[in-house]
Amino acid sequence: MSLTTPYDPQNIFAQIIRGDAPCYKLYEDDDVLAFLDLFPQSFGHTLVIPKRSAACNILDVDTDALAKVMAVVQKLTRVIVDELQPDGVQVAQFNGAPAGQTVFHIHVHIVPRYSGEGLGIHAAGKADPADLEQLQARLQQRIATLG
Ligand code: AMP
Repeated sequence: MSLTTPYDPQNIFAQIIRGDAPCYKLYEDDDVLAFLDLFPQSFGHTLVIPKRSAACNILDVDTDALAKVMAVVQKLTRVIVDELQPDGVQVAQFNGAPAGQTVFHIHVHIVPRYSGEGLGIHAAGKADPADLEQLQARLQQRIATLG
């Protein structure tokens, strides 16, 4: 996938937005959706995506949509750090296959980092559904307290 490949409405995140594929949702408003990564690189790995922008990457995303995504990224990063108490947190965004992008609907990764723990392999190693459900409930509960 090059940086100029047209947007494919059948990509997995577009399917999740439409409700055609499931996700472990953490947060949703009119413009932004956040859910747990199915192949987490660390405990709490979360993805944040725009719902209304059919954009592959940072080059073609609508600026207002990107701003709304980043506001949610900051809010959820605070929640995740508060709840999971990692020692660090990475916020990452990849553009084009050579840069590591595997799903071509723009998204931002929130990856908590724990001292002494390496990063899992990118987009590999599916998490146990029971673990994801438990983590989802834990983070949703904390998000709910924000009002
Ligand atoms: P990237 O490689 O930056 O495009 O990131 C795509 C991310 O989406 C990877 O971290 C994958 O583990 C993750 N992913 C792929 N399919 C799903 C899915 N159905 N639900 C949640 N996360 C997914």
